[in-house]
Amino acid sequence: MAINLSLFNTPIPIDSISLDLENDQAAKIDILRLDQIHETISGNKWFKLKYNLLEAEKQDADSILSFGGAYSNHLHALAYAGKLFNIKTIGIVRGEKISNSTLNDCADWGMELHFISRAEYRNKTDNEFLTAVKKQFRNTFIIPEGGDNDLGQKGCTEILTKEMITDYDILCCSIGTGTTISGLAASFDKEVWGFAPFKNAYSLREKLTKTMPNLRYIDKYHFGGFGKIKAELEIFMTDFEKKHDIELDRVYTSKMFYGLQNEIAVDLKTAKKNILAVHTGGLQGNRSLS
Ligand SMILES: *Cc1c(COP(=O)(O)O)cnc(C)c1O
Repeated sequence: MAINLSLFNTPIPIDSISLDLENDQAAKIDILRLDQIHETISGNKWFKLKYNLLEAEKQDADSILSFGGAYSNHLHALAYAGKLFNIKTIGIVRGEKISNSTLNDCADWGMELHFISRAEYRNKTDNEFLTAVKKQFRNTFIIPEGGDNDLGQKGCTEILTKEMITDYDILCCSIGTGTTISGLAASFDKEVWGFAPFKNAYSLREKLTKTMPNLRYIDKYHFGGFGKIKAELEIFMTDFEKKHDIELDRVYTSKMFYGLQNEIAVDLKTAKKNILAVHTGGLQGNRSLS
C-alpha cells in the first residue's frame, strides 16, 4: 500500500449560477464543485477516506473494510481507492445480493463484497458485531458506514480554505451521516444550512444542532424519504442540468438545490446574501437509480 495524496491536491473549482425565483427574481449562488475533484472518487467521499487510508497504512492493515447500501458512494470510492493504492478492500452490503453499476464497479476494482440482511446490518456499530467482523477478517481496518468517524471529519475540515470562505454569509451542504457538514462547519462560523434528504432523523438532528449552534437543519425536502424520488424532483434535476450544465445526484444534491431555491423564494432577503453551496458529488449512483 502506498497512498499518494497528491492525486487529489488540485484546487476545487467554484462556479456561479443564477437560480430563478418567482416574479422574475433571481439569486446568485456559488457552487463548490466537489463533484469535480476526481473522475471516479468524486465529492466528499475522498475527504472522508483520506485520513482513514493513512491510518490503515500506519497500522499496517491487510485490508480495509466498510459498510454501505447497494448504491453507496462511500463503498464505490473506497473500492476505487483500494485499486489506486493497492489495498485490499471489503464491502459489507446491506440487503440481499443484487447486481448494479455501483457494485459491479466495486467488484471490478477488487472489492470483496459480502451481503448481509437488513436486520444484521443494523448492528453495524455494535461492539459484539464488530468483534465478530474482526475475527472473520483478520487484521482489517474498519471504517464505519459513510466514513463517519473522527478521521473522516478531520478530512472534511480541509475542504474549505480561508480564501474560499471570507465572502460568504451562508454555507449549504446536504446531510447523510453529518460528517461532511461537521467538518465544513469547523471553519465556518456564519450560517450553515444543512439539507437532510430524509425525514424523522431526530437523534441525528439533535446531535448536529448541539455541536453546531449555527446550523439550520432542514429536512422538509425529503420527497418521501431517503433515496425516494418524485416526478417534481426529476423535472427540477433535468432543468437544472439544462440551465446550468451541472449534473445533480438523485439522493442528495438534487434535494439540496431544490430546497435551497425554495428557501430563498420564501425569504427573499436571503437572495441578497452570499451563498456557497457544496456539490458533494455522488453522480455515480445516477446510473442505477434512474
Ligand atoms: C455521502 C454523501 C453525502 C452525505 O455526507 P455525510 O458526510 O454522510 O453527511 C452528501 N452528498 C453526497 C453526494 C454523498 O454521496
